[in-house]
Amino acid sequence: MESQAHEFLKDLLLAPSPSGYEQPAQAVVRNYVKDFADQVTTDVHGNVIVVKNPSAPVRVLLAGHCDQIGLVVTYIDDKGYLYSKPIGGWDPQQLIGQRMTVWTQSGPIPAVIARKPIHLLKEEERNKVVKLEEMWLDIGAQDKEEASGLVMIGDPVTLELGYQELRNGLANAPGMDNSTGVWVVIEALRRASQQPLNCAIYAVSTVQEEIGLRGAQTSTFGVDPHIGIAVDVTHATDCPTLDLRQQGDIKLGGGPVIERGPNVNPKLFTRLVETAKSKAIGHQLAAHNRGTGTDANAIQLVRAGVVTGLISIPNRYMHSAVETIALDDLDRSADLLAEFMVGLRGDEDFTP
Ligand SMILES: [Zn+2]
Repeated sequence: MESQAHEFLKDLLLAPSPSGYEQPAQAVVRNYVKDFADQVTTDVHGNVIVVKNPSAPVRVLLAGHCDQIGLVVTYIDDKGYLYSKPIGGWDPQQLIGQRMTVWTQSGPIPAVIARKPIHLLKEEERNKVVKLEEMWLDIGAQDKEEASGLVMIGDPVTLELGYQELRNGLANAPGMDNSTGVWVVIEALRRASQQPLNCAIYAVSTVQEEIGLRGAQTSTFGVDPHIGIAVDVTHATDCPTLDLRQQGDIKLGGGPVIERGPNVNPKLFTRLVETAKSKAIGHQLAAHNRGTGTDANAIQLVRAGVVTGLISIPNRYMHSAVETIALDDLDRSADLLAEFMVGLRGDEDFTP
């Protein structure tokens, strides 16, 4: 991975972006693209739309959602402990004992999230799955007055953000879902724009995917693209206890996953596979049997329908503090999308 692009990835991962609170991540996107984009706009929903070659008649929208799962503060008790609701789909077991950050209007405040220790759990409590409402955030405040002076109801909370590299080009961080997708759509635009183009590219850092694909819906309506491709993470199945018979054979380092199924236009699927083969870009296939839980689902249903594709980045340990990806998969995903767009003539008919 080129060093500037690598810095962009790390900056995205260190920017807090729970759904509805994505502004810090969007500022990172706007800053990175300012040297190579033809236009950059932010819509009223918060989507950042980065445009290259806008005068071309065929519009391609690439969507990577910049929001991550998080918590939102709902209540501060007399002792100064904070309680929260989840933003997005948490396994609450993943939260016990984590270092957290409360993002207040006057800056980040360190916190921990916990429950009582195992020694003090009753037998039935030990055997039960913990619920978020049974956990609390502790910022070290002495009482409600001190906590309320720092934290406002509605402040967002994330896992402590960070970035760590593992062996063999792997890296982990909270929020790989979906900083990696944002990185891929922006890098695809940057790489494609170094060659002649017959299409307009709208790379969108979408908001609020984790709570219902909301930013993809508004931004796709606004851009009105002919082709829309979402980039999101998918479950890598190369770790213990997963069922390959249902989830497919998806490996970190195996390259972008080209998705096939009803959420994807069949001719676009074929074109993406042909592009990968002709450019010798290692890739993998995955199948879905309905609308997916990604921005591709919203994109496909806008106006009278959009020619839709879905590229997935393999990710181990989704929605945890240690989401793990292969850096090489990101580069190859960006290359695949760039080559696809460079190869578009503009007169293709994707009617199935
Ligand atoms: Zn995602």
